[in-house]
Amino acid sequence: RDPEAKKPGWLRQRAPQGEKFEEVKHSLSRLNLNTVCQEAQCPNIGDCWNGGSDGISTATIMLLGDTCTRGCRFCAVKTSRNPPPPDPLEPLHTATAIASWGVDYIVLTSVDRDDLPDGGSSHFALTVQAIKELKPDILVECLTSDFRGDLNAVDALVHSGLDVFAHNIETVSRLQRIVRDPRAGYEQSLSVLKHAKLSKKGMITKSSLMLGLGESDEELKEAMADLRAIDVDILTLGQYLQPTPLHLTVREYVTPEKFAFWKEYGESIGFRYVASGPMVRSSYRAGELFVQTMVR
Ligand code: SF4
Ligand code: SF4
Repeated sequence: RDPEAKKPGWLRQRAPQGEKFEEVKHSLSRLNLNTVCQEAQCPNIGDCWNGGSDGISTATIMLLGDTCTRGCRFCAVKTSRNPPPPDPLEPLHTATAIASWGVDYIVLTSVDRDDLPDGGSSHFALTVQAIKELKPDILVECLTSDFRGDLNAVDALVHSGLDVFAHNIETVSRLQRIVRDPRAGYEQSLSVLKHAKLSKKGMITKSSLMLGLGESDEELKEAMADLRAIDVDILTLGQYLQPTPLHLTVREYVTPEKFAFWKEYGESIGFRYVASGPMVRSSYRAGELFVQTMVR
């Protein structure tokens, strides 16, 4: 069955438009830079690239290639045990392109690279350093893997000059095994986030969960409490959507009203900012979220 057929109306995509969107899109065309926003045909591209009322535009760039060493059951990225080695020039080339682009807030993310000794941490760190050197006022968020729980790899990245350390726990504790690759895990992800927070004073941390995978309200509250217990600052919650019929099926389409409830609930238990909505993704309006987090 076509998973699209059952989607409620609030998940319908809108065509992106807006002044800043056009400007960012235009300046991108001359740079050799592949954004996740465009490649994944993300429906939020208008909101993120325009930057809303604050005018802080956000875009997401994928490092370390397009082939992941893991295979999560919600994710359509291609997988291989031995992906091609990383391009050693990627950090500099990416930074040069980003610095001449015109976007205010950049999210660097990647596939998981369990084949690399440090999981790709030094590659991320070099990219952040090069961006900050070339254009210090760009804000940089890294949305990373769990580095197989390697806390030295977390340290290297936390001290690279980034502004936000993000790592997604993806789902509640009970569903980890069903949803994520067996090499990932709830406790391991929490330990990475905890370490990032403790490793550098004032480090802003962020995590994300997908809803609609069969989690109960109590389980979600428990996951939110676990994130607050390690002082995670920013939380994003969005609807899980099945990328192909071979992936996990959607168990529930959570209503916009329920997402609004979770935002209020999350902020009442101490998150500095919660972005919660059917189409919210981990990097959704990340620049605006960061600025609002800092003024709260
Ligand atoms: Fe890009 Fe992320 Fe925004 Fe989608 S949600 S447009 S991938 S920054
Ligand atoms: Fe997708 Fe990340 Fe899982 Fe790899 S580790 S399959 S990129 S969600």
